[in-house]
Amino acid sequence: MIYNYLKNLISRFFIKLRKKRVNFVYDSDLDSLLKSLEVKDRIDSGSVKCFVCKETITFKNIGAIAKVKGNIEFICEKPVCISNFNK
Ligand SMILES: [Zn+2]
Repeated sequence: MIYNYLKNLISRFFIKLRKKRVNFVYDSDLDSLLKSLEVKDRIDSGSVKCFVCKETITFKNIGAIAKVKGNIEFICEKPVCISNFNK
């Protein structure tokens, strides 16, 4: 249940990302990412920070998810962060 919820949620962000032409996590990466369910725990505990501005990421403010040097990174929804990341 949580897996499907999270997957649907994150799929929406990928659509957002495609429009902004940010590199997004490939489906296979997303699957392994979500299978661990670690992400949800990390977000729930407030330990995930925006890659650009270091603001705490919640399920409400995720703007983008991307792979940076092999790590999954989260970017908040602020347009300035997404455009900075996209440079
Ligand atoms: Zn940010």
